[in-house]
Amino acid sequence: PKVQAAEKTYTIGTDVTFPPFVYANSNNKYVGIDMELIRAIAKEEGFKADIKPIGFNAAVQSLSSGQIDGVIAGMTITDERRQKFDFSTPYYQSGIVMAVAPKSKITSLKDLKGKRVAIKTGTSGADYANSIKDRYGFKTVTFDDSDNVYNDVKNGNSAACFDDSAVLNYGVKTGLGLKIVTKPTNTGKYGFAVQKGKNQELLSKFNQGLEKLKKNGKYDQIIEKYTGSAA
Ligand code: GLN
Repeated sequence: PKVQAAEKTYTIGTDVTFPPFVYANSNNKYVGIDMELIRAIAKEEGFKADIKPIGFNAAVQSLSSGQIDGVIAGMTITDERRQKFDFSTPYYQSGIVMAVAPKSKITSLKDLKGKRVAIKTGTSGADYANSIKDRYGFKTVTFDDSDNVYNDVKNGNSAACFDDSAVLNYGVKTGLGLKIVTKPTNTGKYGFAVQKGKNQELLSKFNQGLEKLKKNGKYDQIIEKYTGSAA
């Protein structure tokens, strides 16, 4: 009989509250597009994914120091990150939008003058806010996860926040209690990341698995399940 090689286990860091990409359901199980993709890819490619829900910035830091093998967390492929990481084929697209409380009078970036804006540590939304804050005259406050960012806006401590359109659109649809007031920036494709030049094995397994899921319809099924529409 054929001897089956033991499945390799990879530790994959992720965010804790980033629906519809990753979040805990009522049974405290991590679900969402990213979780279903990585589990389905692991199954296709014959490896085990040990998911570490440690928060976005912590996941990125842990990957850069080699404590984990990969990150899947609605992570935007940027030129800056490409210096440190290798990214998979993109699996989703999202820009950055500004959101405010439902009764807020703020409708544009110009209205942010003198205001406080909530952002999430280490994200491309935070980079975007920081890049325009002098021009529009606002201050920023940072939080480690999206829930705390949104709460700061909902309780009136911050006038607005910046985050990914794919996440805020989903939030608006599912009763998050914020409204989006800007058009999405033309930036941002999500990719699975590994350390640059290392773990090419895992990266190619991810890419091969994703390709299979796109061919067999499972990818579309997952996207549809969480967003109600095709990618
Ligand atoms: N897409 C954003 C980034 O990569 C935010 C990711 C996240 O908050 N999980 O920076």
